[in-house]
Amino acid sequence: MSDGERNPLDMEKLVSLCKRRGYIFPGSDLYGGLNGTWDYGPLGVELKRNIKDAWWRAVVRERDDVVGLDAAILMNPQVWVASGHVSGFTDPMVDCKACQGRFRADHIEDNRCPGCGAVGQFTEVRRFNLMFKTFVGPVESEAAQVYLRPETAQGIFVNFPNVLAATRKRVPFGIAQIGKAFRNEINPRNFTYRSREFEQMELEFFCKPGSDEEWHRRWLDERFNWYLKLGLRKDRLRLRQHAKEELAHYAKDTYDIEYLFPWGWGELEGIANRADFDLKQHQQFAGKSLEYFDDDGKERYIPYVIEPSGGVDRTALAFLVDAYAEDAAPDAKGKEEPRVVLRLHPALAPVKVAVLPLSRNEKLRPQAREVFDLLRRAGISSEYDDAQSIGRRYRRQDEIGTPLCVTIDFQTVEEDKQVTIRDRDSMQQVRVPIAELVAALREKLV
Ligand code: ATP
Repeated sequence: MSDGERNPLDMEKLVSLCKRRGYIFPGSDLYGGLNGTWDYGPLGVELKRNIKDAWWRAVVRERDDVVGLDAAILMNPQVWVASGHVSGFTDPMVDCKACQGRFRADHIEDNRCPGCGAVGQFTEVRRFNLMFKTFVGPVESEAAQVYLRPETAQGIFVNFPNVLAATRKRVPFGIAQIGKAFRNEINPRNFTYRSREFEQMELEFFCKPGSDEEWHRRWLDERFNWYLKLGLRKDRLRLRQHAKEELAHYAKDTYDIEYLFPWGWGELEGIANRADFDLKQHQQFAGKSLEYFDDDGKERYIPYVIEPSGGVDRTALAFLVDAYAEDAAPDAKGKEEPRVVLRLHPALAPVKVAVLPLSRNEKLRPQAREVFDLLRRAGISSEYDDAQSIGRRYRRQDEIGTPLCVTIDFQTVEEDKQVTIRDRDSMQQVRVPIAELVAALREKLV
């Protein structure tokens, strides 16, 4: 996973900020947690929603060759036999005889137990299936056993004929889906990076065999640029091609988009050329033809599939890691004070604008509320805050990544109906008439 390179961020600081400010809490915190689960707080849920919206816009809405889908999490168990997950979706596992800890064999370094440090105390490697099991209906029999989906992709493949029949789409076209996936990871770790419950954003793009390599290249470009456009630093992002022996059983060629995390390079998204593996498998197991007939009826074939498959949680984590910075900013009296700031892209920031009356003075409140209402009516996600000193409120907004603050002072009310816009990154302050505020904010929020 790593080549010795590291992102310099101290993860503890980010984890603590996430909890303190309401981005991410440990799952079931009140009961001491549940390993591998995380709850997104008031800000985290907005961040995730903004990420999913940006993905959906780029992959579905702004194209005319991709449609959306929302398939069920529980599927007929035969799906997972056909896909290869029942027999092959396993990780190698070992137990440490000294501390009874259980670990992924391929994560062990120098034969040393990551739990207790004992060397060479491991059991033989066993394969462990990562799918969670449950039952449909009241009887807990083997016939009633189903799985929580470990990926959203299969819901797309089995709906290929339905979507084809219901829409006017012709190959090449894609089906996209965002939804929860579950994997019983042996060692959840690195904050939300490896969780047992997470969300995926997946696209299956169906194309004619022979055009697959070209489509693969196009989607690699599209997806890599998506992360850059939303502000990830270029030197912390890379594309890595899988070596032949690393390729999954279904893949003809795969690239990972990787981000440089504090523990080294880690996958944000895999972009695989799955050839015709999945549709062929489902054709065989379901006993129904999944062949595609070209418009002129001359050609029939099983389409090839290019699959960009990313994780919402890992992406959110990368954006948070990349945005975290410590610098200095002048306080109310102009003295430089250290501050923590999340430099999130405006499209991702949970709060776009904070409306801050200079103080709680009665004279300021009506005007400040009016400005707040104005922004809400304009659809700009805003927060009203009049608690504590203005300096502390600025620091709080910096820490949660709010790009712009609008301050209402006595001059606003008594003299000129102008407010001050403060920019999180440049720290510049400009005064604008309230009548021009919405337009001025919109211009800065792109
Ligand atoms: P890894 O090798 O890190 O286990 P993977 O190659 O198994 O990941 P894929 O099966 O390609 O992952 O899943 C697609 C995407 O789903 C990943 O790029 C990642 O963003 C997300 N994802 C997969 N497993 C997890 C997990 N346990 N926690 C959070 N996100 C995950």
